[in-house]
Amino acid sequence: MHKNFKGIEKTVYGRGSFSQLGDILAPKRTENNQYFVFIVDQYFKGKDLENRIPAEAKDLVYFIDVDVHEPTTEQIDTLRDEILAKQGLPSGVVGIGGGSVMDIAKALSLMLTNEGSSTLYQGLNLVKVPGVYHVGVPTISGTGAEVSMTAVLTGPVKKLGLKCEWTVFNQVVLDPELIATVPTDWWFYTGMDTYIHCIESENGHFNNAYSHAYAEQAMKLCRDIYLGENAGQTPENDDKLMVASLMGGLSLTYSEVGVCHALSYGLSKILGTRHCYANCLIMNHLEDYYPEGVAEFKQMVKRFNVTLPQGLAKEWDDETITKMAHVSYNLPHMWLHAIGENWQEVITIDVLKDLFKRL
Ligand code: NAD
Ligand code: ZN
Repeated sequence: MHKNFKGIEKTVYGRGSFSQLGDILAPKRTENNQYFVFIVDQYFKGKDLENRIPAEAKDLVYFIDVDVHEPTTEQIDTLRDEILAKQGLPSGVVGIGGGSVMDIAKALSLMLTNEGSSTLYQGLNLVKVPGVYHVGVPTISGTGAEVSMTAVLTGPVKKLGLKCEWTVFNQVVLDPELIATVPTDWWFYTGMDTYIHCIESENGHFNNAYSHAYAEQAMKLCRDIYLGENAGQTPENDDKLMVASLMGGLSLTYSEVGVCHALSYGLSKILGTRHCYANCLIMNHLEDYYPEGVAEFKQMVKRFNVTLPQGLAKEWDDETITKMAHVSYNLPHMWLHAIGENWQEVITIDVLKDLFKRL
């Protein structure tokens, strides 16, 4: 069976395109209780962008501090209950921020129309009815959350996405001006997430001409941005990074991620390490699986004097490492892609523990 995917319905790309958001939302304002909910990264509170948000009198604007924790099921449920109690069903939800805010916007859109706790819907195709209209405005590029069909939430039992066709944004606004202020370390880690998406998508059994075309182009853009003559955080490179993030996301959608992401989920779930940073820590030690990709990744690390700490595993006891290994092992689709049908002969809990011990 070949995967049959839904894409973003509408995309606007270009410097200053954020100014079009008001016009984009206008025709939707007649729907439901005729107001919009804006979920905005706290970073923008008091910044110029705050005054440019096209919120009207009835609209609700929430500024969210994503540094406290990654999006949780409890956070979504509370927000949903509060919004419905205040003003009923909105016309739509707009997320302005990085992967965290975009995931909150996607999950909220679904939970406004699906009853009960969001924990009930963590998994594939568990959501019962479509959510409200939702728009993603990325302000950091790399995770591909703007294009993916999942909204990753941490719940009491699992860290797993609400994954279905309805999760995909109806509209995205890609304005490279919005990523200019991203701190250099985040710019590096999130950009590397895109690069790693491509390396993993390319090196595995599910790779195909379709996923390859996106990965090839996204990797070319990453090479310009992180290794080229004009490498660095410049407006020209921001234009490219925004497209690379989207294409890297599309590549993995049509193929799959692999060893680095499987391990990264283990690290994030058990120790709470942020997704893109976790990927960088792990990619640094995956020469056995992706020799060329890791060599190039290390060149990029060197070029930007990024320090990736070593010897982390010395601080972890066997129980912690075993837990991480189990989380990683339970991602069969990634192993099937990265290793093949016989993956269980190659990847065991002990192999995974040894990989974690390299960190
Ligand atoms: P993020 O949204 O967590 O933000 C990282 C930091 O950058 C925060 O401090 C934020 O305030 C700040 N920031 C955002 N935009 C800024 C700007 N323009 N200028 C200055 N600072 C800015 O970062 P992320 O790495 O994009 O997202 C990580 C999240 O994405 C995790 O929760 C992860 O689970 C999720 N994720 C989702 C998917 C998906 O497909 N849905 C894929 C990968 C990761
Ligand atoms: Zn990723």
